[in-house]
Amino acid sequence: MLLIVGLFSFNWNDHTPVTHVICLCTDLALLGLILWFLPRVVSATLRITVEAIIYVTALIDTYCLYNFGKGISPTILIIFINTNESEITDFLSSYGHQLLNDWHTIVIILLMIFHAVVSFKYIKRIPWTMAIPYRRWLLAGGGVLMVAGLMFTWPDKQRLARLLSQDNISDMEGLVFRNFDESAYLSPLRLAYALKAMNLAEKEIIILREANARAHIDSCSHRSPCIVLIIGESYNRHHSQLYGYPLPTTPKQLERANSGQLTVFSDVISSWNITTNSFNQMFSLHHYGASRPWSSYPLFPILFRQAGYRVAFLTNQFARHANRSHSNQTGGFFLNDRQLFDNLFDLHNNRQRQNDMTFLNAHMEMLNDSADYKLDIIHLHGQHFDYASRYPNEETVFTTADYQYRQLNDDERQVIAHYDNATRWNDCVLDNILKYYENQDAVVICLADHAEEVYDDLPVRGRIYSELTARQVHQEFEIPFWIWCSPAYEKHHPDVVAQIKESAQRPWMTDRLPHLLLYLADISQADYDERLSLISPLTDNKVPRIIEGIVDYDALINGK
Ligand SMILES: [Zn+2]
Repeated sequence: MLLIVGLFSFNWNDHTPVTHVICLCTDLALLGLILWFLPRVVSATLRITVEAIIYVTALIDTYCLYNFGKGISPTILIIFINTNESEITDFLSSYGHQLLNDWHTIVIILLMIFHAVVSFKYIKRIPWTMAIPYRRWLLAGGGVLMVAGLMFTWPDKQRLARLLSQDNISDMEGLVFRNFDESAYLSPLRLAYALKAMNLAEKEIIILREANARAHIDSCSHRSPCIVLIIGESYNRHHSQLYGYPLPTTPKQLERANSGQLTVFSDVISSWNITTNSFNQMFSLHHYGASRPWSSYPLFPILFRQAGYRVAFLTNQFARHANRSHSNQTGGFFLNDRQLFDNLFDLHNNRQRQNDMTFLNAHMEMLNDSADYKLDIIHLHGQHFDYASRYPNEETVFTTADYQYRQLNDDERQVIAHYDNATRWNDCVLDNILKYYENQDAVVICLADHAEEVYDDLPVRGRIYSELTARQVHQEFEIPFWIWCSPAYEKHHPDVVAQIKESAQRPWMTDRLPHLLLYLADISQADYDERLSLISPLTDNKVPRIIEGIVDYDALINGK
Protein backbone atom coordinates (compact mmCIF):
# COMPACT_ATOMS: atom_id res chain seq x y z
CA MET A 1 0.00 0.00 0.00
CA LEU A 2 2.78 2.42 0.94
CA LEU A 3 4.43 1.68 -2.40
CA ILE A 4 1.21 2.66 -4.19
CA VAL A 5 0.85 5.87 -2.13
CA GLY A 6 4.52 6.72 -2.65
CA LEU A 7 4.33 6.18 -6.42
CA PHE A 8 1.07 8.11 -6.59
CA SER A 9 2.49 11.10 -4.74
CA PHE A 10 5.38 11.49 -7.22
CA ASN A 11 5.08 14.39 -9.63
CA TRP A 12 4.94 12.29 -12.80
CA ASN A 13 4.35 15.36 -14.98
CA ASP A 14 7.75 16.66 -13.93
CA HIS A 15 9.79 13.66 -15.01
CA THR A 16 10.17 11.41 -11.97
CA PRO A 17 13.51 9.67 -12.47
CA VAL A 18 13.69 5.91 -12.22
CA THR A 19 16.10 6.43 -9.29
CA HIS A 20 13.18 7.70 -7.21
CA VAL A 21 11.15 4.56 -7.90
CA ILE A 22 14.13 2.36 -6.97
CA CYS A 23 14.75 4.53 -3.86
CA LEU A 24 11.15 4.03 -2.78
CA CYS A 25 11.19 0.22 -3.32
CA THR A 26 14.55 -0.14 -1.54
CA ASP A 27 13.61 2.06 1.40
CA LEU A 28 10.28 0.30 1.93
CA ALA A 29 12.00 -3.11 1.79
CA LEU A 30 14.59 -1.88 4.27
CA LEU A 31 11.87 -0.55 6.54
CA GLY A 32 10.06 -3.92 6.35
CA LEU A 33 13.28 -5.73 7.30
CA ILE A 34 13.87 -3.47 10.29
CA LEU A 35 10.27 -3.91 11.47
CA TRP A 36 10.65 -7.70 11.12
CA PHE A 37 13.56 -7.75 13.58
CA LEU A 38 11.94 -5.51 16.18
CA PRO A 39 9.71 -6.72 19.06
CA ARG A 40 6.06 -6.95 18.00
CA VAL A 41 4.75 -3.98 20.02
CA VAL A 42 7.58 -1.68 18.93
CA SER A 43 7.24 -2.88 15.36
CA ALA A 44 3.47 -2.24 15.26
CA THR A 45 3.80 1.23 16.82
CA LEU A 46 6.59 2.19 14.43
CA ARG A 47 4.71 0.81 11.42
CA ILE A 48 1.54 2.76 12.23
CA THR A 49 3.57 5.95 12.87
CA VAL A 50 5.44 5.65 9.57
CA GLU A 51 2.23 4.89 7.69
CA ALA A 52 0.48 7.89 9.25
CA ILE A 53 3.41 10.21 8.39
CA ILE A 54 3.53 8.96 4.80
CA TYR A 55 -0.24 9.31 4.28
CA VAL A 56 -0.54 12.78 5.87
CA THR A 57 2.51 14.21 4.11
CA ALA A 58 1.44 12.62 0.79
CA LEU A 59 -1.97 14.27 1.21
CA ILE A 60 -0.44 17.72 1.88
CA ASP A 61 2.16 17.25 -0.86
CA THR A 62 -0.38 16.20 -3.48
CA TYR A 63 -2.76 18.99 -2.46
CA CYS A 64 0.03 21.60 -2.81
CA LEU A 65 1.23 20.10 -6.08
CA TYR A 66 -2.14 20.12 -7.84
CA ASN A 67 -3.40 23.41 -6.35
CA PHE A 68 -0.25 25.56 -6.22
CA GLY A 69 1.85 23.81 -8.86
CA LYS A 70 4.58 22.89 -6.37
CA GLY A 71 4.78 20.17 -3.74
CA ILE A 72 6.03 20.66 -0.17
CA SER A 73 8.96 23.10 -0.26
CA PRO A 74 10.49 25.67 2.13
CA THR A 75 8.62 28.55 0.48
CA ILE A 76 5.24 26.75 0.60
CA LEU A 77 5.89 25.87 4.24
CA ILE A 78 6.77 29.47 5.14
CA ILE A 79 3.53 30.70 3.59
CA PHE A 80 1.57 28.12 5.63
CA ILE A 81 3.41 28.84 8.90
CA ASN A 82 3.07 32.61 8.45
CA THR A 83 -0.67 32.29 7.93
CA ASN A 84 -2.36 33.32 11.17
CA GLU A 85 -5.52 31.77 12.59
CA SER A 86 -8.08 33.98 10.87
CA GLU A 87 -6.17 33.60 7.64
CA ILE A 88 -6.34 29.82 8.08
CA THR A 89 -10.15 30.08 8.32
CA ASP A 90 -10.12 32.29 5.22
CA PHE A 91 -7.70 29.91 3.58
CA LEU A 92 -9.89 26.87 4.26
CA SER A 93 -13.04 28.66 3.13
CA SER A 94 -11.27 29.75 -0.05
CA TYR A 95 -9.28 26.63 -0.84
CA GLY A 96 -10.64 23.90 1.49
CA HIS A 97 -13.22 22.72 -1.01
CA GLN A 98 -10.40 22.02 -3.47
CA LEU A 99 -9.28 19.22 -1.16
CA LEU A 100 -12.23 17.20 -2.40
CA ASN A 101 -12.44 18.81 -5.85
CA ASP A 102 -9.14 17.34 -6.86
CA TRP A 103 -9.20 13.61 -7.62
CA HIS A 104 -5.55 13.13 -6.60
CA THR A 105 -6.24 14.01 -2.98
CA ILE A 106 -9.47 11.96 -3.00
CA VAL A 107 -7.49 8.90 -4.18
CA ILE A 108 -5.02 9.31 -1.30
CA ILE A 109 -7.85 9.64 1.23
CA LEU A 110 -9.51 6.47 -0.20
CA LEU A 111 -6.19 4.59 -0.10
CA MET A 112 -5.74 5.68 3.51
CA ILE A 113 -9.24 4.41 4.48
CA PHE A 114 -8.77 1.16 2.55
CA HIS A 115 -5.37 0.60 4.20
CA ALA A 116 -6.80 1.20 7.68
CA VAL A 117 -9.74 -1.16 7.09
CA VAL A 118 -7.53 -3.91 5.65
CA SER A 119 -5.03 -3.57 8.51
CA PHE A 120 -7.60 -3.81 11.28
CA LYS A 121 -10.30 -6.08 9.86
CA TYR A 122 -8.99 -8.52 7.34
CA ILE A 123 -5.30 -8.92 7.91
CA LYS A 124 -5.65 -12.23 9.75
CA ARG A 125 -7.73 -13.82 6.98
CA ILE A 126 -5.01 -13.48 4.36
CA PRO A 127 -3.41 -16.95 4.00
CA TRP A 128 0.22 -15.92 4.51
CA THR A 129 1.11 -19.59 5.07
CA MET A 130 0.79 -20.12 1.30
CA ALA A 131 4.08 -18.36 0.86
CA ILE A 132 5.98 -20.57 3.31
CA PRO A 133 7.46 -23.08 0.80
CA TYR A 134 8.87 -20.24 -1.24
CA ARG A 135 9.81 -18.03 1.67
CA ARG A 136 13.51 -18.93 1.59
CA TRP A 137 13.77 -18.16 -2.12
CA LEU A 138 11.73 -15.00 -1.70
CA LEU A 139 13.93 -13.83 1.15
CA ALA A 140 17.14 -14.57 -0.77
CA GLY A 141 15.86 -12.85 -3.93
CA GLY A 142 14.52 -9.92 -1.94
CA GLY A 143 17.82 -9.56 -0.07
CA VAL A 144 19.85 -9.46 -3.32
CA LEU A 145 17.47 -6.89 -4.83
CA MET A 146 17.62 -4.77 -1.68
CA VAL A 147 21.43 -4.74 -1.60
CA ALA A 148 21.51 -3.87 -5.32
CA GLY A 149 18.93 -1.13 -4.69
CA LEU A 150 20.95 0.25 -1.80
CA MET A 151 24.12 0.35 -3.90
CA PHE A 152 22.28 2.03 -6.77
CA THR A 153 20.64 4.68 -4.60
CA TRP A 154 23.60 5.29 -2.24
CA PRO A 155 24.78 8.50 -4.01
CA ASP A 156 21.25 9.89 -3.68
CA LYS A 157 21.22 9.09 0.03
CA GLN A 158 24.57 10.83 0.45
CA ARG A 159 23.21 13.90 -1.31
CA LEU A 160 20.18 13.91 1.00
CA ALA A 161 22.38 13.54 4.10
CA ARG A 162 24.57 16.45 2.91
CA LEU A 163 21.51 18.62 2.23
CA LEU A 164 20.01 17.97 5.66
CA SER A 165 23.30 18.46 7.52
CA GLN A 166 23.95 22.05 6.33
CA ASP A 167 24.38 24.65 9.04
CA ASN A 168 23.72 27.81 7.04
CA ILE A 169 21.14 28.80 4.48
CA SER A 170 23.55 30.10 1.80
CA ASP A 171 25.31 26.74 1.54
CA MET A 172 21.95 24.95 1.50
CA GLU A 173 20.81 27.32 -1.28
CA GLY A 174 24.00 26.44 -3.20
CA LEU A 175 23.15 22.72 -2.93
CA VAL A 176 19.52 23.28 -3.95
CA PHE A 177 20.73 25.06 -7.11
CA ARG A 178 22.72 21.87 -7.76
CA ASN A 179 19.44 19.90 -7.45
CA PHE A 180 20.37 18.23 -4.16
CA ASP A 181 16.74 18.78 -3.07
CA GLU A 182 15.67 16.16 -5.65
CA SER A 183 17.20 13.55 -3.34
CA ALA A 184 14.30 14.31 -0.96
CA TYR A 185 12.17 12.17 -3.27
CA LEU A 186 9.25 11.28 -0.97
CA SER A 187 6.76 13.55 0.82
CA PRO A 188 8.11 12.98 4.39
CA LEU A 189 11.67 13.69 3.16
CA ARG A 190 10.49 16.83 1.37
CA LEU A 191 8.85 17.92 4.61
CA ALA A 192 12.06 17.20 6.57
CA TYR A 193 14.08 19.28 4.07
CA ALA A 194 11.54 22.13 4.17
CA LEU A 195 11.51 22.15 7.99
CA LYS A 196 15.31 22.12 8.13
CA ALA A 197 15.54 25.01 5.64
CA MET A 198 12.92 27.02 7.51
CA ASN A 199 14.65 26.41 10.82
CA LEU A 200 18.04 27.49 9.42
CA ALA A 201 16.50 30.57 7.79
CA GLU A 202 14.75 31.65 10.97
CA LYS A 203 17.87 31.20 13.09
CA GLU A 204 19.90 33.16 10.56
CA ILE A 205 17.42 36.05 10.47
CA ILE A 206 17.35 36.23 14.29
CA ILE A 207 21.16 36.37 14.45
CA LEU A 208 21.20 38.96 11.64
CA ARG A 209 18.62 41.14 13.42
CA GLU A 210 20.64 40.98 16.64
CA ALA A 211 23.90 41.78 14.85
CA ASN A 212 22.30 44.81 13.24
CA ALA A 213 20.66 45.97 16.45
CA ARG A 214 24.05 45.75 18.22
CA ALA A 215 26.12 47.40 15.49
CA HIS A 216 27.28 50.95 16.04
CA ILE A 217 29.74 53.14 14.22
CA ASP A 218 32.70 54.83 15.90
CA SER A 219 33.01 57.85 13.62
CA CYS A 220 32.25 59.22 10.15
CA SER A 221 33.75 62.17 8.26
CA HIS A 222 31.33 61.94 5.28
CA ARG A 223 34.30 61.80 2.92
CA SER A 224 31.85 61.40 0.01
CA PRO A 225 28.50 63.15 0.50
CA CYS A 226 26.64 61.22 -2.20
CA ILE A 227 27.50 57.58 -2.84
CA VAL A 228 25.58 55.64 -5.48
CA LEU A 229 25.67 51.88 -5.87
CA ILE A 230 24.24 50.40 -9.07
CA ILE A 231 23.73 46.64 -8.99
CA GLY A 232 23.26 45.04 -12.40
CA GLU A 233 22.01 41.52 -13.10
CA SER A 234 23.53 38.54 -14.90
CA TYR A 235 26.19 40.67 -16.61
CA ASN A 236 28.96 38.81 -18.42
CA ARG A 237 31.71 41.44 -18.73
CA HIS A 238 33.13 39.71 -21.79
CA HIS A 239 30.07 41.09 -23.62
CA SER A 240 31.04 44.67 -22.74
CA GLN A 241 33.26 46.86 -24.91
CA LEU A 242 34.93 48.01 -21.68
CA TYR A 243 36.44 44.53 -21.54
CA GLY A 244 37.23 44.14 -25.24
CA TYR A 245 33.95 42.84 -26.76
CA PRO A 246 34.11 43.61 -30.49
CA LEU A 247 30.43 44.59 -30.95
CA PRO A 248 29.20 48.06 -29.85
CA THR A 249 27.26 46.93 -26.75
CA THR A 250 28.42 49.70 -24.37
CA PRO A 251 29.26 52.81 -26.48
CA LYS A 252 28.19 55.34 -23.82
CA GLN A 253 30.20 53.75 -21.02
CA LEU A 254 33.18 53.41 -23.39
CA GLU A 255 33.01 57.11 -24.22
CA ARG A 256 32.99 58.02 -20.53
CA ALA A 257 35.86 55.60 -19.85
CA ASN A 258 37.90 57.07 -22.72
CA SER A 259 37.34 60.59 -21.40
CA GLY A 260 38.78 59.50 -18.04
CA GLN A 261 35.70 60.13 -15.86
CA LEU A 262 34.88 56.42 -15.52
CA THR A 263 37.50 54.00 -14.18
CA VAL A 264 37.12 50.40 -15.37
CA PHE A 265 38.39 47.72 -12.95
CA SER A 266 39.89 44.78 -14.78
CA ASP A 267 39.88 42.01 -12.17
CA VAL A 268 36.71 42.01 -10.07
CA ILE A 269 34.66 38.86 -9.56
CA SER A 270 31.40 38.02 -7.78
CA SER A 271 31.40 35.71 -4.77
CA TRP A 272 28.46 33.60 -6.01
CA ASN A 273 26.60 32.91 -9.25
CA ILE A 274 23.32 32.84 -7.27
CA THR A 275 21.60 36.23 -6.83
CA THR A 276 20.48 35.96 -3.19
CA ASN A 277 23.77 34.48 -1.95
CA SER A 278 25.68 37.18 -3.82
CA PHE A 279 23.44 39.80 -2.17
CA ASN A 280 24.09 38.37 1.31
CA GLN A 281 27.81 38.82 0.76
CA MET A 282 27.52 42.25 -0.91
CA PHE A 283 25.45 43.67 1.95
CA SER A 284 27.22 42.08 4.93
CA LEU A 285 30.56 43.19 6.35
CA HIS A 286 31.45 39.51 6.32
CA HIS A 287 33.93 38.33 3.71
CA TYR A 288 35.05 34.80 2.90
CA GLY A 289 37.96 34.14 5.19
CA ALA A 290 36.36 36.02 8.12
CA SER A 291 36.15 34.28 11.47
CA ARG A 292 32.41 34.44 12.18
CA PRO A 293 29.34 33.33 10.15
CA TRP A 294 28.10 36.00 7.72
CA SER A 295 24.83 36.59 9.60
CA SER A 296 26.69 37.75 12.72
CA TYR A 297 28.06 40.79 10.83
CA PRO A 298 26.11 44.03 10.32
CA LEU A 299 24.67 45.01 6.92
CA PHE A 300 26.17 48.21 5.52
CA PRO A 301 22.93 50.26 5.10
CA ILE A 302 22.40 50.20 8.89
CA LEU A 303 25.86 51.73 9.43
CA PHE A 304 25.23 54.42 6.82
CA ARG A 305 21.94 55.37 8.47
CA GLN A 306 23.73 55.65 11.81
CA ALA A 307 26.31 57.89 10.16
CA GLY A 308 23.60 60.30 9.04
CA TYR A 309 23.26 59.16 5.44
CA ARG A 310 19.79 58.93 3.95
CA VAL A 311 19.72 55.41 2.50
CA ALA A 312 17.51 54.68 -0.51
CA PHE A 313 16.92 51.31 -2.16
CA LEU A 314 15.32 51.31 -5.59
CA THR A 315 15.00 47.71 -6.72
CA ASN A 316 13.44 46.52 -9.91
CA GLN A 317 13.51 42.93 -8.65
CA PHE A 318 12.64 42.46 -4.99
CA ALA A 319 9.08 43.30 -4.07
CA ARG A 320 8.82 44.41 -0.45
CA HIS A 321 6.24 42.51 1.61
CA ALA A 322 5.36 40.44 -1.44
CA ASN A 323 4.52 37.35 0.54
CA ARG A 324 8.00 36.08 -0.19
CA SER A 325 7.25 35.49 -3.84
CA HIS A 326 10.76 36.69 -4.62
CA SER A 327 12.41 34.61 -1.94
CA ASN A 328 15.15 32.17 -2.75
CA GLN A 329 14.67 28.42 -3.01
CA THR A 330 15.26 27.86 0.69
CA GLY A 331 13.14 30.83 1.77
CA GLY A 332 15.76 32.60 3.86
CA PHE A 333 16.63 35.84 2.10
CA PHE A 334 17.21 38.82 4.43
CA LEU A 335 15.33 41.33 2.27
CA ASN A 336 12.14 39.29 2.86
CA ASP A 337 12.26 40.08 6.55
CA ARG A 338 10.00 43.08 7.15
CA GLN A 339 11.78 44.25 10.30
CA LEU A 340 15.21 44.11 8.68
CA PHE A 341 14.00 45.71 5.46
CA ASP A 342 12.43 48.62 7.35
CA ASN A 343 15.57 49.13 9.43
CA LEU A 344 17.87 49.11 6.42
CA PHE A 345 16.32 51.80 4.21
CA ASP A 346 14.83 55.28 4.58
CA LEU A 347 13.38 55.24 1.07
CA HIS A 348 12.30 52.41 -1.20
CA ASN A 349 9.97 51.71 -4.09
CA ASN A 350 6.94 49.43 -3.94
CA ARG A 351 6.52 48.58 -7.60
CA GLN A 352 8.64 47.06 -10.35
CA ARG A 353 8.55 47.54 -14.11
CA GLN A 354 9.59 45.17 -16.86
CA ASN A 355 11.91 47.76 -18.40
CA ASP A 356 14.66 49.31 -16.25
CA MET A 357 14.36 52.69 -18.01
CA THR A 358 10.61 52.89 -17.31
CA PHE A 359 11.31 51.85 -13.72
CA LEU A 360 13.89 54.60 -13.24
CA ASN A 361 11.75 57.26 -14.94
CA ALA A 362 9.01 56.40 -12.44
CA HIS A 363 11.22 56.37 -9.34
CA MET A 364 14.40 58.48 -9.68
CA GLU A 365 12.53 61.59 -8.53
CA MET A 366 12.23 59.94 -5.08
CA LEU A 367 15.98 60.41 -4.67
CA ASN A 368 15.73 64.17 -5.17
CA ASP A 369 15.44 65.24 -1.54
CA SER A 370 17.29 67.72 0.65
CA ALA A 371 19.39 65.21 2.63
CA ASP A 372 23.00 66.36 3.13
CA TYR A 373 24.39 62.85 2.84
CA LYS A 374 22.96 60.20 0.57
CA LEU A 375 23.53 56.55 -0.20
CA ASP A 376 21.45 55.55 -3.23
CA ILE A 377 21.28 51.84 -4.07
CA ILE A 378 19.80 51.16 -7.50
CA HIS A 379 19.14 47.52 -8.32
CA LEU A 380 18.32 46.81 -11.97
CA HIS A 381 16.78 43.90 -13.84
CA GLY A 382 19.68 44.25 -16.28
CA GLN A 383 20.24 41.18 -18.45
CA HIS A 384 18.20 38.73 -16.40
CA PHE A 385 17.03 35.66 -18.34
CA ASP A 386 14.34 36.30 -20.91
CA TYR A 387 16.76 38.81 -22.42
CA ALA A 388 14.29 39.69 -25.20
CA SER A 389 11.95 41.33 -22.68
CA ARG A 390 14.69 43.50 -21.14
CA TYR A 391 14.91 46.02 -24.01
CA PRO A 392 12.33 47.73 -26.25
CA ASN A 393 11.81 46.13 -29.65
CA GLU A 394 12.57 49.37 -31.49
CA GLU A 395 16.02 49.43 -29.82
CA THR A 396 17.14 46.25 -31.60
CA VAL A 397 20.67 46.72 -32.91
CA PHE A 398 22.06 43.18 -33.11
CA THR A 399 20.58 40.32 -35.16
CA THR A 400 21.62 36.75 -35.95
CA ALA A 401 23.60 38.15 -38.90
CA ASP A 402 26.15 39.54 -36.43
CA TYR A 403 27.06 36.02 -35.24
CA GLN A 404 27.22 34.08 -38.51
CA TYR A 405 30.88 33.24 -37.84
CA ARG A 406 29.93 31.37 -34.62
CA GLN A 407 29.44 27.59 -34.77
CA LEU A 408 25.88 27.82 -33.47
CA ASN A 409 22.37 27.37 -34.79
CA ASP A 410 20.09 30.34 -35.52
CA ASP A 411 18.11 29.99 -32.27
CA GLU A 412 21.34 30.22 -30.28
CA ARG A 413 22.55 33.19 -32.34
CA GLN A 414 19.21 34.88 -31.63
CA VAL A 415 19.71 34.39 -27.88
CA ILE A 416 23.11 36.12 -28.08
CA ALA A 417 21.55 38.93 -30.13
CA HIS A 418 18.89 39.42 -27.44
CA TYR A 419 21.55 39.41 -24.70
CA ASP A 420 23.70 41.94 -26.53
CA ASN A 421 20.67 44.15 -27.24
CA ALA A 422 19.77 44.00 -23.54
CA THR A 423 23.39 44.90 -22.70
CA ARG A 424 23.23 47.87 -25.09
CA TRP A 425 19.93 49.00 -23.57
CA ASN A 426 21.50 48.67 -20.13
CA ASP A 427 24.23 51.02 -21.42
CA CYS A 428 21.53 53.67 -22.06
CA VAL A 429 20.00 53.04 -18.61
CA LEU A 430 23.38 53.44 -16.87
CA ASP A 431 24.13 56.59 -18.87
CA ASN A 432 20.82 58.11 -17.79
CA ILE A 433 21.64 57.38 -14.15
CA LEU A 434 25.02 59.09 -14.52
CA LYS A 435 23.36 62.11 -16.17
CA TYR A 436 21.12 62.36 -13.08
CA TYR A 437 24.20 62.68 -10.83
CA GLU A 438 26.21 64.85 -13.27
CA ASN A 439 25.68 68.06 -11.25
CA GLN A 440 26.04 66.52 -7.78
CA ASP A 441 29.12 65.81 -5.66
CA ALA A 442 28.67 62.10 -6.36
CA VAL A 443 30.68 58.93 -6.74
CA VAL A 444 28.95 56.04 -8.53
CA ILE A 445 29.95 52.38 -8.28
CA CYS A 446 28.55 49.95 -10.82
CA LEU A 447 28.79 46.17 -10.65
CA ALA A 448 26.70 43.05 -11.26
CA ASP A 449 25.50 40.41 -8.81
CA HIS A 450 27.12 37.72 -11.01
CA ALA A 451 27.79 36.98 -14.67
CA GLU A 452 26.07 34.64 -17.13
CA GLU A 453 26.87 32.15 -19.91
CA VAL A 454 25.59 33.13 -23.34
CA TYR A 455 26.97 30.39 -25.62
CA ASP A 456 30.41 31.94 -25.20
CA ASP A 457 32.80 29.01 -25.25
CA LEU A 458 30.42 26.08 -24.87
CA PRO A 459 26.80 25.59 -25.95
CA VAL A 460 25.74 26.74 -22.47
CA ARG A 461 23.24 29.43 -21.58
CA GLY A 462 22.51 30.78 -18.09
CA ARG A 463 24.48 29.38 -15.18
CA ILE A 464 25.44 25.80 -14.47
CA TYR A 465 25.60 24.57 -10.94
CA SER A 466 28.14 21.80 -10.87
CA GLU A 467 31.67 21.54 -9.55
CA LEU A 468 33.38 24.84 -10.42
CA THR A 469 35.81 24.85 -13.33
CA ALA A 470 38.13 27.59 -14.59
CA ARG A 471 36.05 27.88 -17.77
CA GLN A 472 32.83 28.26 -15.81
CA VAL A 473 34.08 30.88 -13.34
CA HIS A 474 35.52 32.86 -16.26
CA GLN A 475 32.00 33.15 -17.73
CA GLU A 476 29.81 33.19 -14.60
CA PHE A 477 31.85 35.08 -11.97
CA GLU A 478 33.91 37.67 -13.86
CA ILE A 479 31.75 40.79 -13.70
CA PRO A 480 32.03 44.37 -14.95
CA PHE A 481 33.01 46.87 -12.28
CA TRP A 482 33.60 50.58 -12.63
CA ILE A 483 33.60 53.76 -10.58
CA TRP A 484 32.46 57.07 -12.02
CA CYS A 485 33.12 60.42 -10.39
CA SER A 486 31.08 63.54 -11.17
CA PRO A 487 32.96 66.74 -12.12
CA ALA A 488 32.18 68.17 -8.65
CA TYR A 489 33.51 65.01 -6.99
CA GLU A 490 36.71 65.18 -9.07
CA LYS A 491 37.14 68.79 -7.97
CA HIS A 492 36.49 68.25 -4.25
CA HIS A 493 38.14 64.84 -3.74
CA PRO A 494 41.21 64.65 -5.99
CA ASP A 495 42.93 62.30 -3.49
CA VAL A 496 40.12 59.71 -3.66
CA VAL A 497 39.90 60.05 -7.45
CA ALA A 498 43.64 59.37 -7.71
CA GLN A 499 43.29 56.32 -5.44
CA ILE A 500 40.43 54.98 -7.60
CA LYS A 501 42.53 55.31 -10.76
CA GLU A 502 45.57 53.68 -9.16
CA SER A 503 43.51 50.67 -8.04
CA ALA A 504 41.99 49.71 -11.40
CA GLN A 505 44.11 46.57 -11.81
CA ARG A 506 43.67 45.24 -8.28
CA PRO A 507 42.14 41.78 -7.74
CA TRP A 508 38.96 42.05 -5.72
CA MET A 509 35.72 40.20 -4.98
CA THR A 510 32.26 41.62 -4.26
CA ASP A 511 32.03 40.05 -0.77
CA ARG A 512 34.18 43.08 0.24
CA LEU A 513 31.82 45.70 -1.16
CA PRO A 514 30.77 47.19 2.24
CA HIS A 515 34.42 47.91 3.05
CA LEU A 516 34.77 50.00 -0.13
CA LEU A 517 31.55 51.89 0.68
CA LEU A 518 32.64 52.52 4.27
CA TYR A 519 36.00 53.78 3.02
CA LEU A 520 34.29 56.18 0.60
CA ALA A 521 32.18 57.58 3.47
CA ASP A 522 35.08 57.26 5.95
CA ILE A 523 32.95 55.37 8.45
CA SER A 524 34.82 53.61 11.20
CA GLN A 525 33.28 50.51 12.78
CA ALA A 526 34.56 47.44 14.66
CA ASP A 527 34.07 45.04 11.71
CA TYR A 528 35.38 47.46 9.07
CA ASP A 529 38.61 46.20 7.51
CA GLU A 530 40.43 48.77 5.36
CA ARG A 531 42.58 46.01 3.79
CA LEU A 532 39.46 44.95 1.85
CA SER A 533 38.44 48.41 0.64
CA LEU A 534 39.89 48.14 -2.90
CA ILE A 535 41.00 51.77 -3.27
CA SER A 536 42.71 52.57 0.05
CA PRO A 537 46.53 52.60 0.09
CA LEU A 538 46.20 49.96 2.84
CA THR A 539 44.36 47.52 0.53
CA ASP A 540 45.84 44.04 0.68
CA ASN A 541 45.91 42.41 -2.77
CA LYS A 542 46.85 39.05 -1.27
CA VAL A 543 43.62 38.29 0.60
CA PRO A 544 42.42 35.06 -1.12
CA ARG A 545 39.27 35.31 -3.21
CA ILE A 546 37.27 32.27 -2.11
CA ILE A 547 34.21 31.98 -4.35
CA GLU A 548 31.19 30.33 -2.75
CA GLY A 549 33.36 30.17 0.36
CA ILE A 550 35.08 27.02 -0.91
CA VAL A 551 37.11 27.56 -4.11
CA ASP A 552 40.16 29.83 -4.47
CA TYR A 553 39.41 31.71 -7.70
CA ASP A 554 43.02 32.62 -8.47
CA ALA A 555 44.29 29.06 -7.89
CA LEU A 556 41.49 27.66 -10.09
CA ILE A 557 41.93 30.13 -12.94
CA ASN A 558 45.73 29.73 -12.91
CA GLY A 559 45.43 25.93 -12.85
CA LYS A 560 47.20 25.50 -9.52
ZN1 LIG B 1 21.26 37.51 -10.29
